[in-house]
Amino acid sequence: MQNKSAVSLRRRRKTLLRQLPPLDEVLRGSLIERYKRCGKPGCKCAQGRGHGPKYYLSLSRSGAHPEMDYIPQSDQPQAEQYLHNYRRIRDILDELCAINRELLRRRERF
Ligand SMILES: [Zn+2]
Repeated sequence: MQNKSAVSLRRRRKTLLRQLPPLDEVLRGSLIERYKRCGKPGCKCAQGRGHGPKYYLSLSRSGAHPEMDYIPQSDQPQAEQYLHNYRRIRDILDELCAINRELLRRRERF
């Protein structure tokens, strides 16, 4: 970043803005896959890893157990996409902040 011109930093800022996913299509947390043994005698799941996968959205809270929400399998792809969007938006914001900080340091228009 230090060796880039102010013009190219501003250009990069515009590019990042265009790459921003829709701000309403976001989810925070992570998707967890679970397999469960039902315990019924003779069920094939006793040999394998269990029934599933079942998906849960895990949201960590400071100083507490993470909150877990069951996600129906049909919603899993969209949930995955929203989680990805959130990470992407966060990365874009981080880079925008770094660019603005660099411009500010150089006493450039930011
Ligand atoms: Zn079973």
